[in-house]
Amino acid sequence: MQKLALHWKHAGTRTGLVPTMGCLHAGHLSLVQRARRVVGKNGAVVVSIYVNPTQFGPAEDFSKYPRDLKRDLKLCRGAGVDVVFAPTDREMYPALECGDMSPLSKRRHVGAVQHFSTYVVEEKLSQRMEGASRPAHFRGVTTVVAKLFHLVLPDVAVFGQKDFQQATIIQRMVADLNFPVKIVVAPTVRERDGLALSSRNQYLTGDLRRQATVLWCAIQMARVTAKKSKTFSALQLKAAVKKLVECEPDAKLDYVEFFEPETLAPVANVTRGTQMALAVFVGQTRLIDNARI
Ligand code: AMP
Repeated sequence: MQKLALHWKHAGTRTGLVPTMGCLHAGHLSLVQRARRVVGKNGAVVVSIYVNPTQFGPAEDFSKYPRDLKRDLKLCRGAGVDVVFAPTDREMYPALECGDMSPLSKRRHVGAVQHFSTYVVEEKLSQRMEGASRPAHFRGVTTVVAKLFHLVLPDVAVFGQKDFQQATIIQRMVADLNFPVKIVVAPTVRERDGLALSSRNQYLTGDLRRQATVLWCAIQMARVTAKKSKTFSALQLKAAVKKLVECEPDAKLDYVEFFEPETLAPVANVTRGTQMALAVFVGQTRLIDNARI
């Protein structure tokens, strides 16, 4: 991949990267379209497909995360992607060479990570929300994205607003560590009923799919509340969101936060322009969403 990327660089071909974990859906494909628009028809669009073990916690869904490379390749071909980069664990993390697919975070305890010991860690923006609920998650994300940037050498990389905190952290990493990559953040693609597209939506069987719309309902409720009263206490709104979410029999709020979109700093009062993010367990499935109020 790096050889090809260097070839493109020398030939003056603009390269756009869309990092994914595969099991592609229309949200991912919208990022591909965006990458194509930025690099032009003579540019190269690369989609990486890699379920990165270092961003999953030991109790998370790494091993059962949906994978369907054959279908993904077909979708990428149809979307005009030039190269799909789908490395193996062994290529990305030599420590996993014995074929054990368990997350590295689990294996750290047994001292298995002998051939991989360098991580990229963002220390401020990753403290709250996803970072608080999923320790070591963002360390895995920044590390794998840094590796992908070195492998693909993209001029531009496209991320989804769906993972708002992740996109903000990547932008910070790129600025802090002088990566010569332009980061584009593309809007969240939703189902008709507001549910944000996600590979994990496949887990939502039976009534869970209906219950999953509660994240979008919570966002709408916050918007309506803030509109009615111009400014509104974040604490009160958090309590109202919790109540709304937990009206659904299988839904449990993990967190809801109201914050400044650039700094991710929590706000005491919600007004127009405040960003909202929430994580909800619907059955066993953990879903996230966010929006500008
Ligand atoms: P994932 O495969 O879930 O790691 O996501 C890969 C990229 O696609 C990330 O930048 C996500 O933010 C983005 N993405 C995921 N779901 C959506 C969506 N519904 N709309 C737009 N982008 C998305």
